[in-house]
Amino acid sequence: MSDSTMDVVIVGGGLAGIATAYYLGKQGVRSTVIERDAVGSHASGFAYGGLGALDGVGVHGPTQAIATASMRLHRDLAVSLPEDTGINTEFRERPGIALCYTDDEARTAKANLALREKQPEYECRWLDRDELLAMEPRISPEAIGAAYAEGTVDLEPYRFILAMAQAAEGLGTTIRHGTVTGLKRQGDRVTGVLLGDEEISCDAVVIAMGPWSGFASKWLGIPIDVTPLKGQILRLRAPGVPYRYSVGWDGHYATTKPDGLVWAGTTEEEVGFDEQTTVSARDRIMGELLRMLPSLADAQLVQQTACLRPVASDKLMVLGRTPGWEGVYLATGGARSGIILGPAIGQITAGLVVTGESPLPIEAFDAARFAA
Ligand SMILES: Cc1cc2nc3c(=O)[nH]c(=O)nc-3n(C[C@H](O)[C@H](O)[C@H](O)COP(=O)(O)OP(=O)(O)OC[C@H]3O[C@@H](n4cnc5c(N)ncnc54)[C@H](O)[C@@H]3O)c2cc1C
Repeated sequence: MSDSTMDVVIVGGGLAGIATAYYLGKQGVRSTVIERDAVGSHASGFAYGGLGALDGVGVHGPTQAIATASMRLHRDLAVSLPEDTGINTEFRERPGIALCYTDDEARTAKANLALREKQPEYECRWLDRDELLAMEPRISPEAIGAAYAEGTVDLEPYRFILAMAQAAEGLGTTIRHGTVTGLKRQGDRVTGVLLGDEEISCDAVVIAMGPWSGFASKWLGIPIDVTPLKGQILRLRAPGVPYRYSVGWDGHYATTKPDGLVWAGTTEEEVGFDEQTTVSARDRIMGELLRMLPSLADAQLVQQTACLRPVASDKLMVLGRTPGWEGVYLATGGARSGIILGPAIGQITAGLVVTGESPLPIEAFDAARFAA
């Protein structure tokens, strides 16, 4: 069913909100995205942009099926977005090398490789130290081996969200500046959103406020247990040929991006809504980077960024209908994988708004779990 007369308001112009607008537009529904800063001005524009749905690293449990579906959507978007908008999202194959420094790490990495045998879209294998150093001689010989994965990709997150936003506008989406401060309802049904003194009438609302989604708890009268987890990234000018792989260890990573700079991250900091960069994070990231790639000691820092991931207390997404409300949907909690998951979050949420059905199982992401 498509319903071009339906009024949908999406609160938040990060990837979760913009992807929802895009997939609504694909179904003939025009929506209004309300963003209080600018599209992609928080985590969705400043992430690392590494994409993969490999089992055994970060994306697991009920999130795995959604991440796999989202990777397929990413591959479609890699073709359609540049055609529709002329924006190159810098989507490219980027094999991953996950280093191991100890026997324990190697055992865990090998167990994860066994899990991935069921994922034919990735080609994964163990590299011993000699193979590893033959592949990338600048890796530290302190590494005893690595898990290697082909089939992972990366993109430039800011270009990607701009392209998604432009394509959504081409499908009838309106992007509006403003801060939503509450909702209006009649009985259980939502009837509008409040933008300061102004009220915008609508039939459906999508809460896609990223790490700020917890503020909607008081509008909705139910707990939305999502908080910010800060992460920082360094962009460095380095001598030598570009790195062809994304090299990582225990949540730290680095590669050469299409801008010619080495991007290196990251941190996990529970510091509330503070988005300032810090010297201590810079030093920590550099410390881990040099442990992986010691020759970057001469690299010159060009830029440091910081942004906030939306993380639920149980690390799962918050996706689907809002308990106690008709017409209000939650689309948040992407945590460290929100760019991977973004297209699927958008497609699922658009499906719920338009047909009442999710194209994928989402029971595990129901916000009712926080009340329980
Ligand atoms: C350092 C770092 C690296 C990362 N790297 C990766 C990666 O490599 N791969 C990956 O998959 N993921 C990565 N992520 C995670 C990913 O960036 C996030 O999960 C994702 O961007 C979250 O998107 P979002 O739309 O939910 O939130 P956001 O991007 O935060 O967007 C939410 C938007 O809502 C707006 N908003 C909030 N309240 C209101 C209101 N009341 N009214 C109007 N607007 C409002 C905000 O201004 C904001 O623009 C990384 C994150 C960080 C921090």
